Amino acid sequence: MSLPDPALVVLVGASGSGKSTWAASRYRVAEVVSSDALRAVVGSGEHDLDASTDAFALLEQVVAARLGRRLTTVIDTLGTDATRRRAWRDAARAVGLPTVAVALDTPAGVCRSRNAARDRPVPARVLTSQLASVAATVDLLEAEGWQVVRVAPDHELIEPGGGVDAAAATPGQRSTSPVESTSLRGVVLQLSRFPAEGDLLAWLREMAAAAEEAGLAGLALMDHLIQIPQVGRAWDPIPEPWVTLGALAASTTRLQLGTLVTPVTFRAPGVTAKAAATLSALTGGRAFVGVGAGWWEREHAAYGLGFPSARARLDALEVGIETMKALWAPGTKPYAGQRVSLPETTSYPRPVGEIPVIVGGGGDRTLRIAARLGDGCNVPSDEVGLAKMVRYLALVGQAGRDPRSVHATVLDLPLVGRDRDDVWARVERHRGRAAAATFAARHHAGTATEHATRLAGLADLGVTTAFVAPVGLDGPDDVRALAPLATAFG
Ligand code: GDP
Ligand code: MG
Repeated sequence: MSLPDPALVVLVGASGSGKSTWAASRYRVAEVVSSDALRAVVGSGEHDLDASTDAFALLEQVVAARLGRRLTTVIDTLGTDATRRRAWRDAARAVGLPTVAVALDTPAGVCRSRNAARDRPVPARVLTSQLASVAATVDLLEAEGWQVVRVAPDHELIEPGGGVDAAAATPGQRSTSPVESTSLRGVVLQLSRFPAEGDLLAWLREMAAAAEEAGLAGLALMDHLIQIPQVGRAWDPIPEPWVTLGALAASTTRLQLGTLVTPVTFRAPGVTAKAAATLSALTGGRAFVGVGAGWWEREHAAYGLGFPSARARLDALEVGIETMKALWAPGTKPYAGQRVSLPETTSYPRPVGEIPVIVGGGGDRTLRIAARLGDGCNVPSDEVGLAKMVRYLALVGQAGRDPRSVHATVLDLPLVGRDRDDVWARVERHRGRAAAATFAARHHAGTATEHATRLAGLADLGVTTAFVAPVGLDGPDDVRALAPLATAFG
């Protein structure tokens, strides 16, 4: 069972009920604010009751500061002080953080014997009164508006409804919307940063081998002439994608290979059709083409390419898709389409099977072009992007096509760590000037298993493919760490 994160988590339990142990098993040291630990900071030890006032003053300061930054805060006290508890709840609500109360349901006898084994046990009658106030507090929590989670003595989480770990065990009902062409279904690794030194081909081969080992569906490359500012510096290397994909064709056997996305402004569409058909022939049909209208004027100017108006570029996108599909069609007959006429469509080698065309970009006209002419669309995996995906799938239906026959793809930029400590170390390394909580939320900072659960949720919405460009992807180990995501799309 997964708790909301970030969140305010307030523990409720008597001495020896296992609060600190539970918190330590799920959260980083810095996320847990413990009155006992602070007694040891300002007093002689964890059970120095004379230090309580000072310890709680510090505790309140830490809680306020962390909540103000929307950072997960786990409060490890008895949890029975209603005034403090409600003030914490209100502070979390004020910044929009969910409020969770974790009640430790440990039997009185167990608490007593654990307490007795301590260096400075709480007096028996104090423990008795703690147990009574904990029981009374637990009855108030729902009405106070907390999401209540009960923890059994062996640390298995028991939901109010009863099921243990139900959410984790069944990652949701998968909507049965298999794409007819299932080749791209799953997670496709998008490589966007490349090493400036060393053997580029060896590095690419290692990354691709790791992606195959992790069970990923494919590998995608950006198509830019200068490294884009969102990813790196202008002098960071960014190899030409079709040449690079040709090299990867030779070292891979299963991965789908393609661009995300090729701007129609870079090459005449017939030439892109030729490159993609060649890649398809070289790989036994593992090629796909992401296309877009192009957006970055600077790279066009630097390379002597025209950069017409947005409207003209979208016209070119329509022409481009139509041209590619005409050239990939069987035979050599003349083509007379809505926007394109070709005296012949002689193009050999033939592609092996269909080459999916994924249209990138979220403008409404782009979505309509994708729905009418493309085989899929790509939008960001955030809320705005997912709303566009819903719109795209509706447009596909309106165009008289089966929404289950298209590729509903998202671009996802996850921050993936081995465990909670590693996740937050990576947040600190990569957040730049962004606030940690904001950066973590934007990149869904979490472990691979947590990302797998999140992506399975996207699959439930009809998403077929996630193009994944992990934050700080350095080498093949980071790619292999994505293995749990591979099965998120069934
Ligand atoms: P707190 O006073 O509520 O913070 O309780 P602690 O987390 O300090 O736990 C009290 C004692 O119980 C410690 O010695 C823990 O090692 C032990 N303990 C806590 N949780 C568990 C559990 O789930 N199983 C077992 N066997 N021991 C536990
Ligand atoms: Mg404790």
